[in-house]
Amino acid sequence: MQKKELTIYVTRPNLPPLEKLHPYLEQIWQNKILTNNGPFHQQFEKELAKYFNVEHINLFANATLALVVGLQALRITGEVITTPFSFVATTHALKWNGITPVFCDIEEKTMNIDPTKIEALITPKTTAIMPVHVYGHPCDTEAIQDIADKYGLKVIYDAAHAFGIKMKNKNLLLEGDMSVLSFHGTKLFTTFEGGAIISKDEKLKKRIDYLKNFGFADELTVIAPGINGKMNEFQSVIGLLSLEIVEEEIANRKKAAETYFEKLKDIKGIKVFNNFDGYDYNYAYLPVLIDENEFGASREKLYDELKKHNIYARRYFYPLISNMPTYRSLPSAGKENLPVANKIGEQVLCLPIYGALEVETISKVIGIIENINTKK
Ligand SMILES: *Cc1c(COP(=O)(O)O)cnc(C)c1O
Repeated sequence: MQKKELTIYVTRPNLPPLEKLHPYLEQIWQNKILTNNGPFHQQFEKELAKYFNVEHINLFANATLALVVGLQALRITGEVITTPFSFVATTHALKWNGITPVFCDIEEKTMNIDPTKIEALITPKTTAIMPVHVYGHPCDTEAIQDIADKYGLKVIYDAAHAFGIKMKNKNLLLEGDMSVLSFHGTKLFTTFEGGAIISKDEKLKKRIDYLKNFGFADELTVIAPGINGKMNEFQSVIGLLSLEIVEEEIANRKKAAETYFEKLKDIKGIKVFNNFDGYDYNYAYLPVLIDENEFGASREKLYDELKKHNIYARRYFYPLISNMPTYRSLPSAGKENLPVANKIGEQVLCLPIYGALEVETISKVIGIIENINTKK
């Protein structure tokens, strides 16, 4: 009899031990404070700020709301230059603010926005740049800031993948005017749903706090048409407990990634990203690029073959945002303007990676890759 194959997803959350949760839940039941900047929310904000070594942090119900509110807080309007190679929420946040997204091509090396292509896209309507640290690989923040300074633009980093990235000579989350993190269930660090904004001055932090709470500055004063973006006490508790285990998760993922890198290094036509120059990577993702001509099979073929074995790799980020029906009619969305992003979108596959991933599972993935690689 054939053994039923286990389903392997691209990621699996590392949850804190359930028994550690109980005392916190009892405390919530006693306090009867469920949300609205409750005691655990305050504690989580403090501990996260300490972990990130920053002063100002606003917690959110999710990163999409954080992006929407962040843009409002900085009063961004007109056009914003961004990347088509991201999760749709990046661009959606602009549209929800009535802002026109302007897509800029990406660089091969990091798959992040290509700073050398930004300047040509600036118009009198441009007010900001919104890059993404895709997969947690840091953007060229210096080059981006130089352009922003030259033209008086704001910079908002979608740092949804950048939890725990440690750079040698700077704090990645303090680059630009703000950074937005996601704690969604599929992310390296999760509060089930959740997000945060990191910014650099007290006034901005306060304004964000008002905006995420309907615009209330105090009990009676509403300063702006705010929204409800608040993180609740349950999420905050999960966050507090998850902080205790995130470094171990990163270390375990690193081991898994190194196993992949070692086994993939001799396979023709597969490119891995294992050059973490100047920073400690968080191993949030394991993206590879499949060059069909060199590999002898397409990305789709590999994706399907893995799926047949109940292994669900993900084609992050395909289709490109610029090719989605809602965005493809934008003037900047043409494929001829975005050759690198379109190429990488066709080649990329994110293989399963998480702390509890077993070496046997990695070997199985590699075995499937080797089997369909006709150019061995
Ligand atoms: C996950 C993600 C988001 C959205 O985060 P949510 O917390 O799910 O709203 C935004 N941008 C990127 C790049 C993401 O990967």
